Amino acid sequence: MYYSTNGKAPRADLRKAVVKGLAEDRGLYMPERIPQLPEAFFRTLGERSFVDNSLEVAKAFFGEDIPAEELSRIVTETLCFDCPLREVEPGIYALELFHGPTLAFKDVGARFMARLLRHFTGGEGQVNVLVATSGDTGSAVANGFLGVDGIRVFVLYPKGKVSPIQECQFTTLGKNITALEIDGVFDDCQALVKAAFLDTELNAAMRLTSANSINVARFLPQAFYYFWAYAQLQRLGKAGKVVCCVPSGNFGNLCAALFGKRMGLPIGRFIAANNANSVFYEFLQTGDYRPRPSVQTLANAMDVGDPSNFARIWDLYGKSPEAIRADISGGTYADAQIADTIRDCYSRTGYLLDPHGACGYRALKEGLQPGEVGFFCETAHPAKFKDTVEAIIGELVAIPERLAAFMQGEKQAVPLPKDFGAFKQFLLERR
Ligand SMILES: *Cc1c(COP(=O)(O)O)cnc(C)c1O
Repeated sequence: MYYSTNGKAPRADLRKAVVKGLAEDRGLYMPERIPQLPEAFFRTLGERSFVDNSLEVAKAFFGEDIPAEELSRIVTETLCFDCPLREVEPGIYALELFHGPTLAFKDVGARFMARLLRHFTGGEGQVNVLVATSGDTGSAVANGFLGVDGIRVFVLYPKGKVSPIQECQFTTLGKNITALEIDGVFDDCQALVKAAFLDTELNAAMRLTSANSINVARFLPQAFYYFWAYAQLQRLGKAGKVVCCVPSGNFGNLCAALFGKRMGLPIGRFIAANNANSVFYEFLQTGDYRPRPSVQTLANAMDVGDPSNFARIWDLYGKSPEAIRADISGGTYADAQIADTIRDCYSRTGYLLDPHGACGYRALKEGLQPGEVGFFCETAHPAKFKDTVEAIIGELVAIPERLAAFMQGEKQAVPLPKDFGAFKQFLLERR
């Protein structure tokens, strides 16, 4: 069962937590029990594949709710790509999470959630997922749900405000994905989605749900990454004092890593790397959590001023800043430092970082102590931020085939004004 971090909502089973996303008291769902895996499992991680290790982790969390065969299919379909560990320099490894369909790490969470939602709502008629995006979330969700039976996705994005590379990743898909180009800004898109969930007539006419990043089905599967990182270090004979550094925005990815540790994964300590949005960093220094509006940076997927998963971390450590500090330290980097880091790492090692990974690499390099081995998550392919990265290194960045294929697709988007009436009418015509 799952409880709410706000403590004022009834407990929910997995089905409810996945279909509803947020608890009635607007808290985040947390599993009542974090299962511990046996010591022998960790000793032999390196002997199994990414899928096999992940399936054991998935069974521990979801095995009581989903039949074994179905869960095995969900995990296998989700992990359609590898997450290799690459040595950048002695003792520092990049865990590359960007080999999925949209070249950013949110693919695993989105794919897993799509399949869990289908499992729980299959046979109940059409389910409609509404998602507002400023860029990356829309592409991960759209691609994660692409071709999944019984589920339609409507991606709302602000006209002219997402990069051409991002736009083509959710406007060229067709099938069960519809892109809505809203004549407004991101906040207008989000307001339309919120209004739709509150509209009685609309909700009576069609089944609406969100694919929010706070959904347990999106954040928990990210734990797979950390077991796989450790497995690869074991294969290399480097699984000693391991440090894990995660470039963080809403802190879902880091939170999944912390769950991994609670399950027994022997990671010694963690580093949360931030861009100039340093609310968590300051929390570590002062013990006070003071959210504030986000500022724009080169690592824009981490431009978050009030990280939604802080509530989960706070809860996981019993609301104790000291307990959090014992496991997690932090780093925060301004745009100029991000640019310097990309340039310096590329010229010294030949490894090309993206702006998010650059925060992770730098925080790890500055924080690693003698005798430790560290890995940081490289959360996006540098080509996703082609213009930025090219301007920094003064060289062209090749576009991977998968990204180029998106760019050759034909853009199909429905233009809509930002008023709710038009959006509601559009949905009702498609009930
Ligand atoms: C979403 C995202 C992040 C931040 O992840 P959180 O789980 O929100 O902390 C970092 N890098 C990239 C490329 C992302 O898309």
